[in-house]
Amino acid sequence: MSAITSRCPSCRRPLPESAQDLAALQACPGCARPLEIQPFPGLTRIPAAGRPAESITGEGEAACFFHATKKAVVPCDDCGRFLCALCDIELDGRHLCPSCLQAGQARGELPGLERSRTRWDLVVWFVNLGLLTCIGAPIIAILNIVITSLCWNKPGSRTANHRTSMLLGTLVSVGITVILAIAVAFALSKED
Ligand SMILES: [Zn+2]
Ligand SMILES: [Zn+2]
Ligand SMILES: [Zn+2]
Repeated sequence: MSAITSRCPSCRRPLPESAQDLAALQACPGCARPLEIQPFPGLTRIPAAGRPAESITGEGEAACFFHATKKAVVPCDDCGRFLCALCDIELDGRHLCPSCLQAGQARGELPGLERSRTRWDLVVWFVNLGLLTCIGAPIIAILNIVITSLCWNKPGSRTANHRTSMLLGTLVSVGITVILAIAVAFALSKED
């Protein structure tokens, strides 16, 4: 693993290179400024050694679905097929076979393997661009209310406050619809 040199934000003195030393550091060794360092969990985690698959020794032992000569140790939590230690993939507390892992990842059902998320709050703001045309404000407002209610509990951004942003975007379209409705009602009453 190549080490990355971190520096104290105050005195720019280089800090220890090992992730374990960094995590334990409470203050800068140079200027004594209190520091709180949170290395990525992967940097301090000790890699788990893979288990070797045992061969079947006696009769009556279940065999792995993928390796007929290897002893089954656990069934797949998804499809129920028997798996040897080599084929057993542990993810988020579940045991999966390689094909269920692949299928689950393709369907986006395995949060542990998630690589991207849809920013539904940005979708709401994009829909709001339609307001610039001043046509169909009620349609835009309804569309945003639907998106917000359907996607409220979907995992959003890890950094931005997506719920506030989504709510704000929806309120803008609803607000403009209400203002337009009042303006139209006012204009119609003047005409009478
Ligand atoms: Zn310092
Ligand atoms: Zn499976
Ligand atoms: Zn196997």
